[in-house]
Amino acid sequence: MSHLFPTYARMNIEPVHAEGCYITDKTGKRYIDFTSGIGVCNLGHQPPSVKSVIEKQLNQFWHVSNLFEQEGQEVAAKSLAEAAEMDSVFFSNSGAEANEGAIKLARKATGRSKIITFEKSFHGRTFGAMSATGQDKIKQGFGPMLEGFVYVPFNDFEALETEMGQDIAAVMLEVIQGEGGLYVGSELFLKQVESLCKQYGALLVIDEIQTGIGRTGKPFAFQHFNLNPDIVTSAKGLGSGLPIGAIIGKEYLNEYFGPGSHGSTFGGNPIAISAANQTMKEIFNQEFLLKVNEKSELVFSLLQSQLNRESIVKEVRGLGLMIGIELASPVQPLLTVLRERGVLALPAGDTVLRLLPPLIMNKEELEEGITIICNTINEMVYA
Ligand SMILES: *Cc1c(COP(=O)(O)O)cnc(C)c1O
Repeated sequence: MSHLFPTYARMNIEPVHAEGCYITDKTGKRYIDFTSGIGVCNLGHQPPSVKSVIEKQLNQFWHVSNLFEQEGQEVAAKSLAEAAEMDSVFFSNSGAEANEGAIKLARKATGRSKIITFEKSFHGRTFGAMSATGQDKIKQGFGPMLEGFVYVPFNDFEALETEMGQDIAAVMLEVIQGEGGLYVGSELFLKQVESLCKQYGALLVIDEIQTGIGRTGKPFAFQHFNLNPDIVTSAKGLGSGLPIGAIIGKEYLNEYFGPGSHGSTFGGNPIAISAANQTMKEIFNQEFLLKVNEKSELVFSLLQSQLNRESIVKEVRGLGLMIGIELASPVQPLLTVLRERGVLALPAGDTVLRLLPPLIMNKEELEEGITIICNTINEMVYA
C-alpha cells in the first residue's frame, strides 16, 4: 500500500534515469519526452552546464537565509528583470507561491481587493492562487475561497469591460492558458486588457509560470504582444527542475514590498538560484531563442502536413514550443497509446493534447516524435 495521499493520477511508469530528451524507466523502456516535467526541464534533463553550477554551489553553501546579502540572487534578479524589461524581483519556491505574492502586492499597491481572472485559467493550488483559478473542479470541496475574485470568459473584452471598475486591483491572466486547454490570448484582446487596466488604475498581472523562460520563443510570452505588465510571475522552467519561482515587478512597487512585508525561508535558495542563473544564461540568448522559433515552425508545419484532415483533430494552436492539439474526443486514450509507442505527452483540459518538448530537442527528434504523434492521432479516426 502506498503511504502517499492519492492526489495524483499517476501513469504506470517509474523513471530510473533521465537525460536530455529521454526518460528510461525501471523496465529499461526509453521514452522521448514531450512533457519536460510539465514545462520545467526546458533545457532537457540534467543539462550538463546547469549540473556543474549546482555542483559548484553545493560546495559553497546550501542555505544561509535571506538575512544575508546573496550575490547569486542579485544576478538572477537582474537577469529576470532585464529579460522581462521590468525592475524588481522577489524569489519564491513555486508558481502558486509567486502568484500568492503577486496577489498580495497588487492589493497593497492599489489599496483595492478585487481581482479579475479568466474562466479556464490556472494559477495554482494554494488558497489565493486557487481562488484566482477559473475552474470549479480545482476548488471542489475546499470552500470558502479567498474573497474578491471575479471570473470572465477569456478573449471576451466586453465581458471584462462589464466587470471593470475603480474597485479592481488587478486583472490577472495567462497569455496562453496552459492547464485549462491551451487557449491563446488574441493580440487585440490582450492589448485591450492592457489599456482598460491603465484607464481604471488596475494592475496588469501576467502569470508566465508555464509560458515564460523561452517556452514560446521569447523570454516571456507577453513579449509577442508588446504588453507592458505591472507584475509578472515565473516558476516552472526557471530552475531547470530545481524548485524556484519569482515575482517580477515595476520599480514603483518597491515601496509596497518593503522590509517585513513579505518573505520566504527557502525563497531564493542558493542551489535553486545557481540553477536559475545558468538556465537564464542559456535561454535568454538571441541565438537560442531563434532556434526555438525555427523548431516551432518545423513542428507546426509537420502537424499541418501530417495530421489527417478528416481526423478527430479540431484545432492546432500554440506559440513556440507550447503546442495544443484539440481533439473531438477525450485525450487520455491517445496518451496511453503514445506511451506504449515511447512518446510522453500531456493533456490540457479533457480533450487537448499538450506538447511541451524540451527547448533543446533537435529537429530529428522533434520530427521523429511528431510523426509518431500524428500517425497515432490519424489512426484514431479509422480505428
Ligand atoms: C503550474 C502553474 C502554476 C502553479 O505552479 P506550481 O509551481 O505548481 O505551484 C500556476 N500558474 C500556471 C500558469 C501554471 O502553469
